[in-house]
Amino acid sequence: MELLKQVIRQKAVVRPGDVLKVDSFLNHQLDIGLLNEIGKEFYCRFRNKGITKILTIEASGIAIAAITAQYFGVPVVFAKKNHTKNLDGELLCAPVTSFTHGRTYDVTVEKKFLGPGENVLILDDFLAKGSALTGLCDIVEHSGASLGGIGIVIEKGFDVGGDLIRARGADLYSLVRIRSMTENAIVFDDEV
Ligand code: 5GP
Repeated sequence: MELLKQVIRQKAVVRPGDVLKVDSFLNHQLDIGLLNEIGKEFYCRFRNKGITKILTIEASGIAIAAITAQYFGVPVVFAKKNHTKNLDGELLCAPVTSFTHGRTYDVTVEKKFLGPGENVLILDDFLAKGSALTGLCDIVEHSGASLGGIGIVIEKGFDVGGDLIRARGADLYSLVRIRSMTENAIVFDDEV
């Protein structure tokens, strides 16, 4: 996606530890025009898949999922990172190791929001080691729903997650894939 590559080149900042800071447009301040184009792109790719629900993980996935869901006309469910007293029903849980903090925690979705008969599109901002997506795929599997596809905004092609998720047989589509990144240059894969 050319527009996304341009914005990343102009505004993203590479931090130590292979962290790409995208807080000026994707996960703190939100560029709604860009998010709309991202939503359209995911819709074009998955429109014929019979998607009935979009699943993401808080917090950064929510804006991407909410805007994309308007094109599909389906609800969004987001996996929660903290057990709160508000989660009172039966829960679907999966462990996720945070890329940025290194901590492992359970993410949860209430069973009543995901189940047999649903065809789920999973969306997230980044794919790095694949832990967040593995957790979300496991939740879909345990719920009895089917996985219609996975849409990722930025895949780090140099990390292990892409191979891990594709090996599960998932229909994974990344809008851009980064081949390498340093403080001075971000190189994208052309074919995603
Ligand atoms: P994974 O679980 O694939 O290792 O990492 C994916 C999750 O970690 C995403 O949900 C995303 O929030 C976060 N993440 C991974 N890499 C980056 C990064 O370079 N920058 C930011 N801002 N978040 C990242």
